[in-house]
Parts: sequence; structure tokens; C-alpha cells
Amino acid sequence: TQVPNITLNTGAAMPQLGYGVFQVPADEVVAPVRAALEAGYRSIDTAAVYGNEEGVGRAIAESGIAREDLFVTTKLWNDKQGYDSALKGFDESLERLGLDYVDLYLIHWPVAAKDQYVDTWKAFQKLHADGRAKAIGVSNFQIPHLKRLFEETDIVPAVNQIELHPNLPQAELRAFHAEHGIATEAWSPLGQGKGLLDDATLASLGEKYGKSPAQIVLRWHLQLGNVVIPKSVTPSRIEENIEVFDFELADDDVAAITALETGVRVGPDPDTFG
Ligand code: NAD
Repeated sequence: TQVPNITLNTGAAMPQLGYGVFQVPADEVVAPVRAALEAGYRSIDTAAVYGNEEGVGRAIAESGIAREDLFVTTKLWNDKQGYDSALKGFDESLERLGLDYVDLYLIHWPVAAKDQYVDTWKAFQKLHADGRAKAIGVSNFQIPHLKRLFEETDIVPAVNQIELHPNLPQAELRAFHAEHGIATEAWSPLGQGKGLLDDATLASLGEKYGKSPAQIVLRWHLQLGNVVIPKSVTPSRIEENIEVFDFELADDDVAAITALETGVRVGPDPDTFG
């Protein structure tokens, strides 16, 4: 399967679907990343705090896929915020990945209570200027956090990676991103599987289109314009989750999925976490 790209505000191409490795233990990550690369995924999403950057790097190296054909994202953890410590955190991630650049580097959480994300972003701007982070972005930023970056720094984030799924469609943030040229990347795009994928609406749409509920949800994201990074360690599901480019949901079916909004998060509240 060939995954289409979106164009970031840097001009770089980013695959609209990638593979996320949250909660995959370090000693178990190589096999599923290999399975994802074999299935056609070219974008991998990890983070320093996931503790598995080394394994991700090993799977990439062993794949033999040319570096320029891959899109690697990692993230700075909260305890490394601040200008100097962010630069150091980046060096450590790059070393663990065994790479000389990443395609996208994200501030994992704003941690507004510590008020260091502006200085952290200035370090990210340096990493970008040095060519070691081809694109820089943020994760879990709310509109006021983004506005502060616009006011106090020079580069508009390429991406904001946020919790987003049918129970939390994030209409306001998506519209704000679109207005400012920021790509919306959905984490926990399947709502972590539990509950959401048992929904009756998704089951009946699955029957209508001959697809699984997970595939229906991923297709909904793609048609909204989101980048998605579903996670599974099961090879058959890794393959299933990329087989979403051969059908299209009707507009009223997209709307029916968006109507599953409950506002309930599966992860922490970005205004207070960290
Ligand atoms: P997800 O929504 O991708 O759900 C993953 C779970 O859904 C799996 O563990 C499995 O139980 C189930 N599942 C997957 N494919 C399925 C299928 N085809 N059929 C049935 N069930 C299926 O949740 P996630 O792992 O939390 O999020 C995906 C990625 O987002 C992570 O791996 C990570 O890379 C990223 N993430 C980022 C943040 C952040 O703060 N930036 C937070 C959480 C996750």
C-alpha cells in the first residue's frame, strides 16, 4: 500500500498515515516496526519517554529502506524543557535512534505550569536551523499556547499532535490549525481501541463499506485531513490499519461519525498535565 503525503508548512512531505509505538516495550519494538515497514508504513512516531527509540532505530537500520524514504518523529519529554536541556535531550534521542536527523521533533506537552515552552521552542528553532530537525512541531498544545509561540518566537509549528478520535473530534483546534497552516496529527486515533471500536454506528458502517470499525475510523480521520498514527503490535492489525486508501466514506457518514463526540478524553488534560 502506498500512503499519500500531506505538505507541511516547511514544504516537506509527511505521510498521512504512520505507525505509533507508545507502550511498546523496548525489547519488543523491533518486530512490530519491521512488520509496519513491510506493510508499507514509512512514518514512525516515537518519543524519548516511550523508552524504545533504540529499538525503533534498530528496526529502521535493519530494514535497508533509504533514509530519505522514511519519516521519523520523536518528542522531547517534559523534564527536559528549557533551552539548554532541550538541545541535550535532542542529542540523546538522536543518539538512541542512531540517526543524524529526524524529520519531525515535537515538544511532547506544553507543561504550562512550568512556563518553559517558549524557551524550549527557541531551542527547537536552532535545531531546525541546523538541519537536524527537518521540521519542528508541538503536541498537546491548546490555542493559547500556540498564540504565545506566534507572539514570542519566529517559526509557526509544522504540526500539533493532539488527542483526536470520534469521541473527541477537536473541531475548534482543527479549524485554528487550518487557519495558521499547522498540520493536525491525531494521537490515539482509534480512541485506544476500547469501547469506541464496539460502537454500533461504526459496526453498521463497517458492514456498508466492507471494512472493520478501525478502518472506518481511520478513513474518517483521513477525510477530515488529519495525519494518523494508529498503534498495534499484531501483524494482521498493522496491515488492516493501512488498508484504508481503497474506499471513501459518503459525507453524511463522515458526519455520523463526528456525531459520536462525547468530549471524553482517553489521555490527560493538556491544560494541567506535567
Ligand atoms: P490507538 O488509538 O492507536 O489505539 C491502539 C489500540 O487500539 C491497540 O493497542 C489495540 O488495542 C487497538 N487496535 C489497533 N488496531 C486495531 C484494529 N485494527 N482492530 C481492533 N483494535 C485495534 O492508541 P495509542 O497507541 O494511544 O495512539 C497511537 C499513537 O499515538 C501512539 O502509539 C503514539 O505514537 C501516539 N501518542 C501520542 C501521545 C502524545 O501525547 N503525543 C499520546 C498517546 C499516543
